[in-house]
Amino acid sequence: MTEPIISIAMTSPPFLPFTRPSIDEPTITEVAQVLRSGWLTGGPKVLEFEAALSRYCQGRTVRTFNSGSAALTIALRLAGIGPDDEVLTSPLTWVATPNVVLEVGARPVFVDVDPVSRNIDLSAVEANIGPRTRALLPVDLAGLPVNRELLYAIASKHRLRVIEDAAQSLGAQWHGQPIGASGDFVAFSFHANKNITTGEGGALVIPDDIDSALCERMRLQGVFRNQNGDMDVDIRGTKSNLTDIAAAIGIGQLKRLSELTHRRRELARYYFECIRQDMGLDLPAADFVQSNWHMFQVLLPIGTDRRAFIEAMKTEGIGVGVHYPAAHLFTLYRTLGYAPGDFPVAEDIGRRTVTLPLFAAMSHADVQRVCIALEKTLLNAGC
Ligand SMILES: *Cc1c(COP(=O)(O)O)cnc(C)c1O
Repeated sequence: MTEPIISIAMTSPPFLPFTRPSIDEPTITEVAQVLRSGWLTGGPKVLEFEAALSRYCQGRTVRTFNSGSAALTIALRLAGIGPDDEVLTSPLTWVATPNVVLEVGARPVFVDVDPVSRNIDLSAVEANIGPRTRALLPVDLAGLPVNRELLYAIASKHRLRVIEDAAQSLGAQWHGQPIGASGDFVAFSFHANKNITTGEGGALVIPDDIDSALCERMRLQGVFRNQNGDMDVDIRGTKSNLTDIAAAIGIGQLKRLSELTHRRRELARYYFECIRQDMGLDLPAADFVQSNWHMFQVLLPIGTDRRAFIEAMKTEGIGVGVHYPAAHLFTLYRTLGYAPGDFPVAEDIGRRTVTLPLFAAMSHADVQRVCIALEKTLLNAGC
């Protein structure tokens, strides 16, 4: 009998993507139950998911949406932000962040980022506050929290609302408290690439001075029942409610949030052990307590051809992403007057950043594989 030794020996390990969701079998069973139940849109599962999110946020009011972008947009509306208003935010973010500001007719005013945290430079915020500034929209990039004490000190001094873009930081902590448990508005995303997912989806933590019934009307066509039980519409709403199908996924995912976060922190720590220091990479802030390690991002040495690097890693079976080019350099934002050189730190990071694989189902051997591929690509191939 001849054994196919050669074909076994030549089998390469499967491609390692930069992220992949972890959906367990009980969750899949729950989704099937919803599909069989006959009630697919927002119903009992949405209420159950919102209650679970509220418990996670230590009793605060939480409402769900069909995207994180919808949660952010409705937060801006609830905060009364509109035309002629300015909102201060980071240029180093997913473009949804400034896009939602434009969506409500306001102007995003970018402030450069801090080179270590890669989040909005809070020491530069006050110099950008003007008579039209109404809100701060900070982003916890890669799940590393913006300094909440400094943030809220600035906000209260200048009487600004805060909409925390916590799309990437569910599971992260600030001084032992979960992100979402305190603060003004806090928006989460459950996009498929986030630490926990509903496929697509989002949630908003609503402060006490805001009417949650108004939030629900904004989410679904402005519709409500008046005292007689008749339907009425008093505001222009949107169509951005979550389905019970998605909520069933979210309920199963939220149960595992702390386990998944713990695993990401372990893997991130292992990256720091494995990445050789002589490769000229700038590593992310080594925070294994507060960050939820939504992404593991390194900055390539200055002069590296990023496109060639990504291709070379792909040849090694490793998926690498780019999150994100500085948003003010996109064509749309240049038409608002932004130009290269405006935010040099964000531009430098945006040009050099790459996202290495990091997701809860990865093994330590996978991290080693990435590190070996990095050495081969950066030291030998000379990208
Ligand atoms: C994912 C994300 C969003 C938007 O969330 P969606 O669910 O995709 O609409 C907003 N801001 C940041 C920083 C994000 O990463």
